Amino acid sequence: MLLSLVVPCFNEGENVRAFYDACVIAFKDKISSYEIIFINDGSKDNTWSELLSVAQSSDCNIKLINFSRNFGKEAGMYAGLQHAQGDYVSIIDADMQQSPYTVVKMIEFLENNPDFDSVCAYQSKRKEGKLLSFYKKVFYKLISKVCKMDFRDGASDFRTFRKNMVNAILRLKEYSRFSKGIFSWVGFNTYYMEYEVRERNAGKTSWSFFKLLKYAKDGFISFTTFPLKLSTFVGLISSFISILYMLVVIVQKLSFGIAVPGFATIVVLILFVGGIQLSALGIIGEYISQIYIEGKKRPVYITKEYIEYAKKQDN
Ligand code: UDP
Ligand code: MG
Repeated sequence: MLLSLVVPCFNEGENVRAFYDACVIAFKDKISSYEIIFINDGSKDNTWSELLSVAQSSDCNIKLINFSRNFGKEAGMYAGLQHAQGDYVSIIDADMQQSPYTVVKMIEFLENNPDFDSVCAYQSKRKEGKLLSFYKKVFYKLISKVCKMDFRDGASDFRTFRKNMVNAILRLKEYSRFSKGIFSWVGFNTYYMEYEVRERNAGKTSWSFFKLLKYAKDGFISFTTFPLKLSTFVGLISSFISILYMLVVIVQKLSFGIAVPGFATIVVLILFVGGIQLSALGIIGEYISQIYIEGKKRPVYITKEYIEYAKKQDN
């Protein structure tokens, strides 16, 4: 049994050695053979030199992928999955927030439960600000309902897959990758394993609130056309209401001779309809921009260097 660990790294120079050491300790006597695939996602610090030194002194197979610039964690995970050869493949962060012991538990689970194809770690209690937790909860509820797919709140990218599921994931070659959607879209049976997120070993998170907001929007656009249908729906409703109002005005005029009420109503209506039209155009624009980006068929990432360190394993 071979396990591949996919580890995207962005400015994790202070963490990669500690991460590697933690893996070696956790896998000793538990995992017979494993390879670690580190993806250096255009880090600005010493991550790459640290990775080289870890690989040179390591006792297991290590693959190092050096991106030509920062392409984002999604691209990192995709590259890692493409290079993974294991029967089981785990995606794990380099910052020690996720424990390699959990990977061992995931593998044990899959070994004992052939009906399941992947294990996803989820946190039942988020260790973040209340407001951010709330937004994330609302987002996952909404996207689950709208896309009719399983997006569990608190589910992370920390997952272990069987090889067949990895192959399915790799068949989705889109440029704008929203992995949580992709993992759910390909189907298969996923077991949700509760885990506790630890504090970051060093460095800081690269996700700002606005980055998360953009991620959420891109996820929506990638996995549902519901907003487009919503604009049709809102358009039809407002047309219907305006016809009703027109009838009211005609009846008023004919039976009571009341002059058409004034200026203020017209201004409000023009602004209201204008707002709806612009929002609808904006939504269409979002989809067109996705078509435009996908249409270029650019690669998801560009590799500057790729190094394989094959070491004889005695663990
Ligand atoms: N990461 C990456 N590219 C990026 C941002 C993050 O490869 O552009 C990696 C990062 O090094 C870490 C993982 O993705 O291993 C999760 O990132 P982070 O810890 O910043 O996210 P959080 O844990 O706060 O969700
Ligand atoms: Mg982290």
